[in-house]
Amino acid sequence: MTGAISWPVGGVLERWLTGPRFHPLPNRTPGTPPPLLSFEFYPPRTEALEAQLWTCIRRLELLCPRFVSVTYGAGGTTQERTHAIVVRLVQETSLVPAAHLTCIGAGRDEIAAIARRYWDGGVRHIVALRGDPPGGGRYESHPEGFAFAAELVGGLRRVADFEISVAAYPETHPEAATPGADLDNLKRKLDAGATRAITQYFFDTAVYLRFLDRCLAAGITAPIVPGIMPVSNYAQAVRFSTLCGASVPAWLGDMFEGTEDDPEIRRMVAAVVAAEQVRLLQANGVDEFHFYTLNRPELTYAIAHILGVRPQASRPAASSLPSGPARASELAP
Ligand SMILES: Cc1cc2nc3c(=O)[nH]c(=O)nc-3n(C[C@H](O)[C@H](O)[C@H](O)COP(=O)(O)OP(=O)(O)OC[C@H]3O[C@@H](n4cnc5c(N)ncnc54)[C@H](O)[C@@H]3O)c2cc1C
Repeated sequence: MTGAISWPVGGVLERWLTGPRFHPLPNRTPGTPPPLLSFEFYPPRTEALEAQLWTCIRRLELLCPRFVSVTYGAGGTTQERTHAIVVRLVQETSLVPAAHLTCIGAGRDEIAAIARRYWDGGVRHIVALRGDPPGGGRYESHPEGFAFAAELVGGLRRVADFEISVAAYPETHPEAATPGADLDNLKRKLDAGATRAITQYFFDTAVYLRFLDRCLAAGITAPIVPGIMPVSNYAQAVRFSTLCGASVPAWLGDMFEGTEDDPEIRRMVAAVVAAEQVRLLQANGVDEFHFYTLNRPELTYAIAHILGVRPQASRPAASSLPSGPARASELAP
């Protein structure tokens, strides 16, 4: 042995792999089903990026996600592009699509018309959001529109019997008066008819687990599905996290330090970081995950593989799948 390791007093070398401090994550019990996944895409701006999106969709389709969702650009700027992608998903793939829809830039009647168009096109799932103004700035509701996502959920319910997902914030939405008020808002959205919440991404697993405890204490029993952001561009992630209120732990910066000019190494580091995160969540009983794919399949595919998800020849009907295990109630001690 070289002199790099100093021999402790008493002659016992405590190692992380064998000492009392390290607790290996439990393996999945044989026979337990792999977790349920959903994937989020965004509408690209160019034809080349559109081709990349469809390559990504086709690759991830093999993993038979529970659903895939398509975002609605800030300020409603991608209304037509979001619609076109979602309808193509219905017509050309085996995937179950969910269309994101926001309160921004449209009155209630217009939003109802958009929702009806989705329903008529075979879309049954909406991710209902307030949205943010384009280019940042202060949010102001449309004079004839819905002010908040909870109102939008109620409006969608009146249009058709949509499945509705909403957003949740383990670290509290940046504009919320207090964490308690934000939790009350989440409850209002679920009480208005949403059946699932998808979280803003987070890097510290404890943040999400503590949030689940708070949801439980507030009587929320709907699935709170963790949003997983595989970070391949650390600098960009830091900028975006500042805007959306997600904290970036110092250890994450340490992991990516020095990889600025090396995208390949960054991707490998990103895979390790995200894999650790999902394994830790899985070990804590979470078995439903929503991936922010950024229209790139590799990282999401690799992390899904680590979680035990394998390609399947055909997808089971969405209705025959078990309900979301990330329900706060199912994680109760
Ligand atoms: C999973 C996910 C997907 C997303 N997809 C998109 C997308 O496709 N397009 C897009 O533009 N944005 C998207 N966003 C971002 C989202 O639009 C922003 O985070 C937005 O600022 C809040 O949206 P919300 O639906 O959570 O709003 P809300 O639930 O309406 O809450 C917004 C804020 O208002 C507060 N609030 C709510 N009701 C009241 C009330 N009655 N009185 C006072 N305060 C109140 C809440 O506490 C919160 O601070 C997404 C976010 C997530 C987590």
